[in-house]
Amino acid sequence: MDEDGYNDSNRAFLQAFMARSTMTFDEAKPVLAAIFSAHEGREVLQEDISQADLNSYVAAANSAISPFDLEIRSVKRQVTLNSDGQGASPFVYALVNTTSDPLTQLATTYTPDEIAFVKRLLDAMFETYNTRRCEALVVSSMQALQLAKVPADANRRESAAVQANGNTTTQGGAAQSLSMTQAETMMSSLVDEGWLEKSAKGYYSLSPRGLMELRGWLVDTYNDEDEEGHRARRVKFCAACKDILTVGQRCADRDCPGRLHDMCVRNFFRLQQSERCPVCKIEWPGDRFVGERAIANTQQTAQARRRTMDMGNNEGSGDES
Ligand SMILES: [Zn+2]
Ligand SMILES: [Zn+2]
Repeated sequence: MDEDGYNDSNRAFLQAFMARSTMTFDEAKPVLAAIFSAHEGREVLQEDISQADLNSYVAAANSAISPFDLEIRSVKRQVTLNSDGQGASPFVYALVNTTSDPLTQLATTYTPDEIAFVKRLLDAMFETYNTRRCEALVVSSMQALQLAKVPADANRRESAAVQANGNTTTQGGAAQSLSMTQAETMMSSLVDEGWLEKSAKGYYSLSPRGLMELRGWLVDTYNDEDEEGHRARRVKFCAACKDILTVGQRCADRDCPGRLHDMCVRNFFRLQQSERCPVCKIEWPGDRFVGERAIANTQQTAQARRRTMDMGNNEGSGDES
């Protein structure tokens, strides 16, 4: 490719990128092949597109958009399988705003009621469905739609919090519920814009872009200290790559913060030369999961417990491993 500054090809790439918000190398190949074909007046095949081509177009796009506080960043995925089980590239390129916080960004596209819905959705992912017993960190379509309605006590709690803070400014009224249709539309635009991903089984989770952009906010919000100074650890990190972890494996001890991504496990244990929890050093089970698979785990445990009870072996303590 000729490197004569920023040209129509660069502009075409940036336009294609902006239209999607996120792109993997595989998705970039046909886009760049079409652009190169048009530019060179001969057919360029997508197999001929290299990572270096993409890097150079991303770099050119970044110098063009940096005055607008935007940047295309490559983000490592937590899993390298698509929802259909096909191998996916470990990197996804995402358009991010380099200054304003993510909720401010959402505020440019969504109404306050819609943002309040997004907040309820994140609370569901990181609190309601992220418990000691089951760290699912996903919501089903059904659960998402149930969040359309503002819970009866939510507004009261919020106004109490405002008063407790000694802040007497009115917050422009309490959030209104969304209709089911509005909530459904919201969910699909959050998927289209690359904030959420939907799995084959229909569970919604935060996408690599969502996690990257919301990281600081999630930690501030869900790993907050309570009145007694205990720090909640709803958001957990991979002991190997230190990145946020919402899909992966956990230590057998539910109270241990030891977590590893599936794709970090093998390298980590090879380096460590033993398959032990990086934090508490007990044997790593390899079949205790964080993310959607935690739901299947929990169901199996419940079934096993019911079977034990049927056999008349109920010790009644209800302690789980
Ligand atoms: Zn990791
Ligand atoms: Zn542990």
